[in-house]
Amino acid sequence: MPVTPETAKKLVRLGAEVVIETGLGEGTGYSDSEYQEAGASISADREALFTQADVLLRLRKPSLEEVALMREGCIHVSYLDPFNERELIEALRAKGVTSISMEMIPRTTRSQKMDALSSQANLAGYMTVMLGAMHLPRILPMMMTPAGTLKPAKVFVIGAGVAGLQAIATAKRLGARVTAFDTRAVVAEQVQSLGATFLEIDLGETGQTKDGYAKALTDEQIAMQREAQKAVIAESDIVITTAQVFGRKPPVLVTQDMLEGMTPGSVVVDMAAETGGNVEGSVPNEVVTVNGVTIVGLGNLPNYVCKDASQMYASNLFNLVEDSWDKEGNSFVIDFEHDILPGCIITHGGEVTNATIKQFYE
Ligand code: NAD
Repeated sequence: MPVTPETAKKLVRLGAEVVIETGLGEGTGYSDSEYQEAGASISADREALFTQADVLLRLRKPSLEEVALMREGCIHVSYLDPFNERELIEALRAKGVTSISMEMIPRTTRSQKMDALSSQANLAGYMTVMLGAMHLPRILPMMMTPAGTLKPAKVFVIGAGVAGLQAIATAKRLGARVTAFDTRAVVAEQVQSLGATFLEIDLGETGQTKDGYAKALTDEQIAMQREAQKAVIAESDIVITTAQVFGRKPPVLVTQDMLEGMTPGSVVVDMAAETGGNVEGSVPNEVVTVNGVTIVGLGNLPNYVCKDASQMYASNLFNLVEDSWDKEGNSFVIDFEHDILPGCIITHGGEVTNATIKQFYE
């Protein structure tokens, strides 16, 4: 959810006139009256909200019909999926909308407070462990009882970025024995500092981009990685995959033969299922069983903890607005000299201004 009563109050304090769509907070447990108490007004006239707003704060990308309603020059902030939404980006450009993509917030120290990918990945990482534990017919911690001793479950996390590190920390908190792998060797220390084992695989040249994203592996490197992970996967109770390469389809890292090597009852949670999958045979938004192994492909994981997800996303949006707010003019100022904005603005003034996205569509 893009605005909570708390961030509505902060926006009002900035000097903005805040209008909230009726029932916005219903699914998250916030009532219209809480927004009114925060100083916002409530409107059920969706069309008027689109045609009149100077700034639209949203979670999801707009539909083409919604773009048609927007005022020329208005600022639309949301997730946009700009690598895959050519028609939408073209519509926003043609309409003269300034569109800001939350996926494209540059990854600098100063922009961390606006970084929705990170805030939501943290919650998603936590949820992978919750879902894995729920589907595993065992417990995670070691348990010594008069009836016998239960061994701790083994968890293998592939991809130790924001989500993966949170998955490692969560599984450790629950008492599991955790191993992890990432192609960015720099994270080995972070994995170890959480009390997990880093699986060493020599893939030759790997590395990361200046934004901290993984560089894509060659087909040969992927094959080497698969081979080296095989034994760890076979002995794991839960395998969690969070591997992504920015702007590309996620790599397939757990193959059918690896699933066949796992013990029936074990669980694989594929966080990338919705965008193509790290696991062969995972089905987006479904839980399936292959040879007795449960594969969880459920998507939109932050939605399971929607109150916290909303609080974090709304804070990310507020921090973005506050950073470019002109208090005297009471407006959101688009400045192409700003250190963060040009990286996440996709369209402005009838042009696709974003250097990365422009290149992608050429
Ligand atoms: P991401 O979601 O793009 O990828 C998830 C993880 O998958 C990454 O750690 C990546 O290295 C890994 N991966 C890719 N291919 C893999 C493979 N074949 N096998 C195993 N793992 C693979 O990345 P993310 O989690 O959003 O962020 C990655 C890093 O970016 C962070 O760890 C951090 O260093 C940096 N970061 C910086 C900021 C900031 O400074 N504002 C904010 C967020 C993240």
